[in-house]
Amino acid sequence: MNHNISSVLTSQRSFFKEGKTKEVTLRIEKLKLLKSVIEEHESEICEALFQDFKKPEFESVLSETAFIISELDYIIKKLKGWSKPKKVSSSLINFPSSDYIYSEPYGACLIIAPWNYPFQLAISPLMGAIAAGNTVVLKPSELAPNTSQILADILAKVFPTEIVAIVQGGVPVSEALLEEKWDYVFFTGSVPVGKIVAKAIAPHLTPSTLELGGKNPCIIHKSAKVQLAAKRIVWGKFLNGGQTCIAPDYILVDSPIKKEFIDAVQKEITAAYGINPKESPDYARIINEKNFDRLAEMLEGENCQIGGETNREKLYIAPTLIDEPKLTSKVMEDEIFGPILPVLSFSSEENMADIIANYSKPLALYVFSEDKSFSEKILKSYSFGGGAINDVVIQIVNKNLPFGGVGTSGNGAYHGKHSFDTFSHKKSISKRGTWLDVPLRYAPYGDKVSLI
Ligand code: NAD
Repeated sequence: MNHNISSVLTSQRSFFKEGKTKEVTLRIEKLKLLKSVIEEHESEICEALFQDFKKPEFESVLSETAFIISELDYIIKKLKGWSKPKKVSSSLINFPSSDYIYSEPYGACLIIAPWNYPFQLAISPLMGAIAAGNTVVLKPSELAPNTSQILADILAKVFPTEIVAIVQGGVPVSEALLEEKWDYVFFTGSVPVGKIVAKAIAPHLTPSTLELGGKNPCIIHKSAKVQLAAKRIVWGKFLNGGQTCIAPDYILVDSPIKKEFIDAVQKEITAAYGINPKESPDYARIINEKNFDRLAEMLEGENCQIGGETNREKLYIAPTLIDEPKLTSKVMEDEIFGPILPVLSFSSEENMADIIANYSKPLALYVFSEDKSFSEKILKSYSFGGGAINDVVIQIVNKNLPFGGVGTSGNGAYHGKHSFDTFSHKKSISKRGTWLDVPLRYAPYGDKVSLI
C-alpha cells in the first residue's frame, strides 16, 4: 500500500510540474465534468448514503448533492476571475511600481474526510483544491463504505489519477498517507485525530486546514420566539441522525421559559417524525455499533424527558432530550455527535457564562433572542467558528461565509471563494519601473532619516 501511495504521489508531482493544472481552462473543464457526473449519479449517491446510515433521500439531496452542485456552479462561474493576478494599490515608497497578488497552487494536496457527510465533506474541499490548480489524493472515511465506493467511481470518471486519486481504507491507510510529504493537508474529523494529523505533518511544516469539532452551545433567551426556536432546533439537531459537526450540542435556556421550551421540542419532534420516530422514513440511523454504544452510555442514569429509546441491532436512538444533566456527566463531557439534546437552564448571564467556560472554543454557537442587544453581546463575548442568530446550522449554506473553526474546533476555512483561497498560496509581486530610481533608500544615509 505504501508503495502505491508513493507512486501515485510521484505521478501527481510530475503532472503538476508540467504545469497543466495551472491552465484555468482545464480546471473549469474538469469541474464541469464533475458536476455532470454527479448529476448523472445523484440517485446512486443517495442510495449509497441510505445504505451507509439510512440517510433520508431529502437530506442527502439537500446536504450532499444539491449543496455540492450549487457550489460547483458558483466556482465554475467565478474561477477565471479569481485566478487572475489581483492588482493592489502600490506603496508610494516603491514608486514607480505596480503590485499584484498571484494565486498559485500549492501542489500535491491530501484530503482526509469523515463519515458524517461522507459525500459533501470529501468533494467540497476537493473542488476547492482542483479550482486552485492542485492535484489531490482523497481518503474518504472507511465508516461509510458505500459512499466511499461511489466517490471512487465518480472521481475515476472525471479525473486521471495524476490529478485526483482516491485511496480507500481506515487508520493504517491514513497513517501511511501522512508519512508522505504533502504540499497541503486538509483534514476534517475529530479533535483527537486532528492532533495526530497536526503532529504527523509538523516535521515538514506542511500548511493545513483542520476542520474539527466541539461542544456547540445553543442559547435561548427569555425574549425568544420559543415555538419557532424549537422547530428550527429540532430540524438542525436531528438532521443526519444528530451526526452534524455544527448541530447544537447542548441547550442553555433562560429558567422561566424552560418548561415551555421542552413542551415545544416535544411538539416539534412529533410533527417531524411522528409519535414513533423509529417508523419515520425521515430519520437517519447511527453510523455503527461503536458510536451507538458511546451514545447509549450517555443516556445511562439521565433524566430523558423526551425519547431515550434505543435499539442496538437497528442502530436506532430516538430523538432524545435530557433535562439538567450534571456538568460532570458523560453527555456533558465531550462532543455528543448524535441525537441527544441536553437542556440546562440558567438563572443569570454569569451562570450561563460559567457553563460555556467549561469547554474549548466551539465550532458553532447559536442564540435565539428577540432582544438584539443580548444577541450582539453574546456574539462579542465568545470566540467560536461561526453560527447564527435565531436559527441553527444554516450558516453553512451561504458560499460567501467562510466555514471553519477556531482554537480546538479547527483552523482555516473554506466554501466558495474561501475554498479557492485556502488551496492557493498568495504570491506577492512588486513590478518596479526602471525609468526612475528614487535615491532615498541608498547609503550614504547622511541626514535622510528626517525624510522618512
Ligand atoms: P475521525 O477523526 O474519527 O475520522 C476522520 C478521518 O480520519 C477518517 O477518514 C479516518 O479514517 C481518519 N482517521 C481516524 N483515526 C485516524 C488516525 N489515528 N490517524 C490518521 N487518520 C485517522 O472523525 P469521524 O468520526 O469520521 O467524524 C466525526 C468528527 O468529525 C466529529 O468530531 C465532528 O465534529 C468532526 N467533523 C467536523 C467537521 C467540520 O467541518 N469541522 C465536519 C464533520 C465532522
